[in-house]
Amino acid sequence: MRILLAEDDTLLGDGLRAGLRQLGFLVDWVRDGEAAERELRTQTHAAAVLDLGLPLKDGMEVLAALRRDGITVPVLVLTARDALPDRIRGLDLGADDYVIKPVDLHELAARLRALVRRSHGQPQEKLIAQDVTLDPAARSVEQRGSPVVLSGREFDLLHALMLNAGRVLSREQLEQHLYSWGQEVESNTIEVHIHHLRRKLGPGLIQTVRGIGYMLLREAPKA
Ligand code: CA
Repeated sequence: MRILLAEDDTLLGDGLRAGLRQLGFLVDWVRDGEAAERELRTQTHAAAVLDLGLPLKDGMEVLAALRRDGITVPVLVLTARDALPDRIRGLDLGADDYVIKPVDLHELAARLRALVRRSHGQPQEKLIAQDVTLDPAARSVEQRGSPVVLSGREFDLLHALMLNAGRVLSREQLEQHLYSWGQEVESNTIEVHIHHLRRKLGPGLIQTVRGIGYMLLREAPKA
């Protein structure tokens, strides 16, 4: 899943980006509040990690502006240990969660996964559709209890479709889930990945909606 990281501390930002990437996240990194707000307004990220002390625009102001305009992207605030009033204010302003610095990477990743899941109305840690179970933390997929080997992109694509089961996603929306800034997107890449997913998981899981995009069916279509 693709997230926005807003952190002006180069060392911390670099470490978080590298660590989250290793755990399977796509990370776009901005270093000031104005860039963070601009990016989050495009609504292409599944969640954001927001430092509060940012140049140009404070993290609190960014959050307040987004929520005022009805932008609901899940936001996890990074906060200093002694900044309890900040934390409370952040939650009041519409932060969904917070993590205390120094950041435990695995805790951050788990909280991000939980935020994204909840924002899609998915209470369970594992996503289930038909006979397929996807485990976002382990980045693994099983079908009828047997492991299915997917490439990283195939996994990300299936993850996006399962989070949005029953909803049609356009090719552009799916590309946004799969690629961060500066990564080249080939024109038929989504079609190719869908083709591979159908070959591995069977034809009944992902429907093509002509002229619009793709939809994953939570229940098998009735014969
Ligand atoms: Ca800072």
